[in-house]
Amino acid sequence: MRVLVLTGAGVSAESGIPTFRGKDGYWRNLDPAKLATPEAFARDPKLVWEWYRERRQRIRSARPNAAHAAIAKLAQHADEFLLVTQNVDDLHARSGLRADKMVQIHGDIFVTRCSRCDFGFTEGMEEQQEIPKCTRCAALMRPGVVWFGEQLPWKELQRVENYLDRGACDLVIVAGTTATFGYIVDWALRASPERFRGELIEVNPEETPLSEFATQRIHESAAVALPKIVDQVITS
Ligand SMILES: [Zn+2]
Repeated sequence: MRVLVLTGAGVSAESGIPTFRGKDGYWRNLDPAKLATPEAFARDPKLVWEWYRERRQRIRSARPNAAHAAIAKLAQHADEFLLVTQNVDDLHARSGLRADKMVQIHGDIFVTRCSRCDFGFTEGMEEQQEIPKCTRCAALMRPGVVWFGEQLPWKELQRVENYLDRGACDLVIVAGTTATFGYIVDWALRASPERFRGELIEVNPEETPLSEFATQRIHESAAVALPKIVDQVITS
């Protein structure tokens, strides 16, 4: 069994990590969609860092939920498996999913990297207070996430492309994402071509651009739906 799973903010929201959308996402009355941009960082790097440091702390105190656990379990039972997540937190990893079975296509919030050269590292528990500078080139360091208007990381993109090139998937699950980014829909459809007749399951309380292509639509939250789906797949 060859499996592709695509996850988004909805899966982390159930662990108490607010999405960017809606009132809950606001921080100090600021819209996070406007903080997560290269322009915001250029204008006020201190403010952007403060927001990311709070977000890191929030993620550290969060726990993976039943959706994360179900996905990790599915990975163990599949012959070939790849998770592509838009989430920058570490909840999939903390639920036991191995790094080689996962692509964080929007980056990793715990990485601090240079805004100019390729220097970077993963942060430990201690958050610094000042704005970090690169020890190699002295440029400002930034969070290792993909901001609005930026390109997806090349290496991660290649891993997704390679997995898709190796063949169609028997099972594609898209959970907790409104699939507003065209590439999410594109990857789901490429992994599950119509002539191949694999399953394309969408888990989302809302309608999305992908809904019309799904072979199964489940209008439940990921933490409720995914454990049931995975148990069904494993026993069948
Ligand atoms: Zn540098």
